[in-house]
Amino acid sequence: MTSTSSVPTVRLNDGTDIPQLGFGVFQVEPDKTSRVVESALEAGYRHIDTAAAYRNEEGVGHALKQAGIPRDELFITTKLWNADHKRDDALAAIDRSLAHLGLDYVDLYLIHWPLPMFDDYVEAWKTLEEIKASGKARSIGVSNFLPEHLQRLFDETETVPSVNQIELHPEFQQRELVQFSLQHGIEIEAWSPIASGKLSDRDDVKAIAEKYGKTVAQVTLRWHLDEGRIIFPKSNNAERQRENFDILDFELTTEELQVFDALDKGADGRIGADPATADFR
Ligand code: NDP
Repeated sequence: MTSTSSVPTVRLNDGTDIPQLGFGVFQVEPDKTSRVVESALEAGYRHIDTAAAYRNEEGVGHALKQAGIPRDELFITTKLWNADHKRDDALAAIDRSLAHLGLDYVDLYLIHWPLPMFDDYVEAWKTLEEIKASGKARSIGVSNFLPEHLQRLFDETETVPSVNQIELHPEFQQRELVQFSLQHGIEIEAWSPIASGKLSDRDDVKAIAEKYGKTVAQVTLRWHLDEGRIIFPKSNNAERQRENFDILDFELTTEELQVFDALDKGADGRIGADPATADFR
């Protein structure tokens, strides 16, 4: 089994440490999830990112049980779905997620999307504060929050989120949002870190990969680590899971980081939904 000791960690604003490299299970089919997560654990991943909306928490839980890894060596994140922002719904939702995962607590619980048009994410956040106090989540954070949504949490609640999980890949870097989050002590988790598999075919990126004997996916993931972001690439394929984990034995130079920094296309690079208007429940 691959050594996991070398995965760097990031210290969150509540004092807990999160492994910077994990494994994401968005769009992993529920009936395949256990097998996929078991092979990810074999590859060395100890940090798993799921969500109630992925409908595969049970598969994650099954894989964790099969693997028998001590609980304190795992870091498990799940997310509150958009339809459950009201206090009673959120309290029921965390219990459901824990039951599906077969866990007493998650390491990180996130509000999945703000849905500002429904004006209930502040209520959801206050309920996550309660959930943290109850011990059912070690850390709490948000996903897809823009500065105005974060600002309302600062103004109206007691706790600053530990992370903001946002879409971020070479062509969509969201620098202002990143800077605003970091300034307030909120770490960045980059979702779709390799742009859902749409890898750069530029010669300057390929040259970086060749220099290190790595793939474009690997040097792209390394760019995230070297920029201090938390990532959890997804792959159904055991070989690509190992490939994405095998990024801990090199570092990019400042000039190489700048090659990636220059790929940003601003709003044109977005793949997923815009949090300002996303209203799916
Ligand atoms: P990723 O950027 O991780 O890309 C995954 C895709 O790339 C899959 O199609 C995969 O195919 C392919 N792939 C994986 N590894 C390689 C490789 N080495 N070379 C070439 N292709 C590869 O996209 P995701 O959207 O899955 O994002 C990762 C995680 O982020 C999610 O699983 C989820 O945990 C989180 N997320 C959170 C969101 C949110 O709103 N908070 C939204 C979206 C994602 P294959 O499986 O066949 O290998």
